[in-house]
Amino acid sequence: MSDQFTQSTLNIHKEDGTGGKPLPSHAKVVVIGGGVVGCSILFHLAKFGWKDVVLLERDELTSGSSWHAAGQIHTISSDPNISRLQSYTIDLYKEIEETSGHSVGLHITGGFYLASNKTWYDYLKRERSKARYMGLNQEFISPAEVAERHPLIDPKHYYAALWDDQDGDLDPSGATYAFAKAAKVHGAQYFTHCGVTATTQRPDGSWDVTTPKGVINAEHIVNCGGLWAREVGHMQGLNLPVQPMEHHYLITEKIDAVAAHPTRLPAGIDYEANIYFRQERQGMLLGTYEPKGTPWKVGGTPWDFGHELLQPDLDRIADRLEMSFERIPAIGEVGIKDMINGPFTFGPDGNPMIGPVPGMKNYWCAVGVMAGFCQGGGVGLTMAEWMIDGEPSIDVWAMDVARFGDFATPDWGTVKSTENYERRFVMTFPNETLPKGRMQKTTALYDRLVARGARMGQGFGLENALWFGDGPEDAHEEPTFERNRSHEYVAREVQAVREAVGGIEIANFAKHEFKGPGARACLDRILAGYVPKPGRLTLTPMLTPKGKLYGDLTVACLGEQHFMLFGSGAMQEAHRRWFEKNLPADVTYANVSDDWHGIALSGPKSRDLLQRIMREDVSAEAFKFRDLRQTFVGGVPVILNRISFSGELGYEIYCKPQYLLRLAEAIEEAGADQGYRWYGARALMSMRLEKGWGVWTLDFRPDFDAVESGMDVFINWKKDFVGKDATLAAREAGPKQKLVTMTIDVDGIDVSNDEAILKDGKAVGYVSSGGYAHHAQSSMAMGYVSTEHAAPGTQLQVEILGEMYDAEVLGAPIYDANGANMRA
Ligand SMILES: Cc1cc2nc3c(=O)[nH]c(=O)nc-3n(C[C@H](O)[C@H](O)[C@H](O)COP(=O)(O)OP(=O)(O)OC[C@H]3O[C@@H](n4cnc5c(N)ncnc54)[C@H](O)[C@@H]3O)c2cc1C
Repeated sequence: MSDQFTQSTLNIHKEDGTGGKPLPSHAKVVVIGGGVVGCSILFHLAKFGWKDVVLLERDELTSGSSWHAAGQIHTISSDPNISRLQSYTIDLYKEIEETSGHSVGLHITGGFYLASNKTWYDYLKRERSKARYMGLNQEFISPAEVAERHPLIDPKHYYAALWDDQDGDLDPSGATYAFAKAAKVHGAQYFTHCGVTATTQRPDGSWDVTTPKGVINAEHIVNCGGLWAREVGHMQGLNLPVQPMEHHYLITEKIDAVAAHPTRLPAGIDYEANIYFRQERQGMLLGTYEPKGTPWKVGGTPWDFGHELLQPDLDRIADRLEMSFERIPAIGEVGIKDMINGPFTFGPDGNPMIGPVPGMKNYWCAVGVMAGFCQGGGVGLTMAEWMIDGEPSIDVWAMDVARFGDFATPDWGTVKSTENYERRFVMTFPNETLPKGRMQKTTALYDRLVARGARMGQGFGLENALWFGDGPEDAHEEPTFERNRSHEYVAREVQAVREAVGGIEIANFAKHEFKGPGARACLDRILAGYVPKPGRLTLTPMLTPKGKLYGDLTVACLGEQHFMLFGSGAMQEAHRRWFEKNLPADVTYANVSDDWHGIALSGPKSRDLLQRIMREDVSAEAFKFRDLRQTFVGGVPVILNRISFSGELGYEIYCKPQYLLRLAEAIEEAGADQGYRWYGARALMSMRLEKGWGVWTLDFRPDFDAVESGMDVFINWKKDFVGKDATLAAREAGPKQKLVTMTIDVDGIDVSNDEAILKDGKAVGYVSSGGYAHHAQSSMAMGYVSTEHAAPGTQLQVEILGEMYDAEVLGAPIYDANGANMRA
């Protein structure tokens, strides 16, 4: 049996780290749960200087999934910032080993990601492109080189492999203890056999954390309950949509070729065979995510579950094993020494859920961390920065607990987490919409739009139209990296908007309502831009105290003490968290996104259409660009904003959900002879590219400031606002990078996001979003490039699926550069 495996399974370190000290009565932070995630957070908080940080563990440390992990570590992730944090995590192991004096059993062997067909090779080319601008050390090697580095692998199955120097494996139990002991060196305390039985908030916002050994009053608590994250959440009425899943790996008997190999063999992932593998002493360890996942303890994790394993079920993974025996034949030639089936927790999209929980003061969580040994260090770093500095140093949207709202119920969480488990090594294409957990939230228009041929996607739990085919039977497309059959349909929608009039459902935009005598002053402080007068709209960035972008919002003044903010639907709970944190006593705030649905009309004929279904005059003189009215359209009460994201003359019409169908009928009837057409999100994304307008979570995110993103043009410098000092300093220093819009000389394929941008073969930036601009008939991208390459006319290259294509930086929008159409 392996040294690591022995430690992982048997060597449960018997100490509580406190030298028998009693529980303190007060703490700055109580971390609940002593798995790798809780211990890493404890370590980072203590290392960064917070005193009185305490971790409570109900049993020994590593009493959840941490002790039986396979211990494989790698940097690759779908999200570049998670990759960065995985790289940080791996680098950190040396430090915690040195600080703690406790071995983490680290082997940095390097590892490969094996592509056995062209599609996976394409996927890896995309990963390679990301690594290029992130500065990660990844390179392609040939199948022959794979066999050289790992003689057990039969190279004939592979196209190529992406090699990463940083990959390897460690001892999971050792790593968890090293974090805890290093935390102790920095002044933290941890108490084992000290389960938390209740968390009760006091009126001052602090928490009483009850244990059999006493109560600790803590300023902050952090739910790191791992397998019990749901149960710890329930103590406070919090339903976290995470789900433990059963997972198998096996360890072989000794393999002579492994024993004889002079160095430790590299780790690897074979996507098509759906296996990960590494050397385990003189044999191999091999794990797989079976095609039909098995959720474990859907109703709740029992408190008395501890260091048990689950009954292995070889049948479930038999077909995967067969494939792996073909690809790594030596594995099939020896016996299986051990078979592990252990549970670990997944979230709905496979990424962790961390940060301050919206609506719960001083309650933090770091749950659903399904690759704790790849990600635990980065999660700890991020959480400590967030708690101590008020914001993480990089954008961690992909891990933010606020990317889920109340639509993420426990049932939905189980369905999506299971889907995610099953798809762990299954490709998701840029145009792919995942099938599980659909129809969670729909609007009154759902059936109508589907009948009109809508191909639906889902965002923040809500179904929304992506594009329209010729009826329901026609609304299909193959998942692909390349342009697909939806291309021509999207072109048709763009044409309708640019030449006549189109309508898109906008229930999925977020709406935030502020009321009260202090509302204007409050918004003036938290928004960097102008707050409008009654009846007018403004666009404004919202910044963090460090000057990072935290929102781009449309502000509507409905009355001197009444405002509505429209913004990113995905960010609505994150924004709610931000607004509530910054709310004075004389202002009331509510996230009213679900209370206002609506339709946006766009196109040169949109005014005529609108006038047909309104009594009030909406002529260009009577209803100007950025005006708003509370009025009636199609006979229903609405908020009517003269603004559009398509770059055409356009209107956003918001109504209560119960009026949406009537509004849609009125629009369809009135537009029938005007060439009215429904359009979807893809057409909108195409048209906004032609205007060079960024979108939130892609082009606008807290990795960038107002100057880099160009959002500084909307800033009102005459007032004080959150982030002003930092933005002034950034302006003074000059941006190191700038957001640019480019045309790309390419056919048949477009960028999606995260492709490298190069100058003379050197990465100088990355693509934040892009696609095909149908009206301009050009492939386009937006992206951040170093400032010296941001000047209009600069010739650059963009890497798409491993090929370099010429790109040119634009100096002005490719469509309606002076905005005359929009303002018409
Ligand atoms: C078979 C298998 C193989 C894996 N392989 C890998 C791998 O190769 N690489 C990788 O990175 N990851 C791997 N993982 C995943 C990894 O184990 C998890 O990501 C990681 O353990 C999650 O750590 P955690 O701290 O969030 O949760 P846990 O390890 O579950 O820890 C939670 C802790 O909280 C404690 N707790 C719960 N409730 C309370 C309470 N009320 N009061 C006090 N304490 C409480 C528990 O006792 C437990 O110790 C694997 C997992 C399994 C099952």
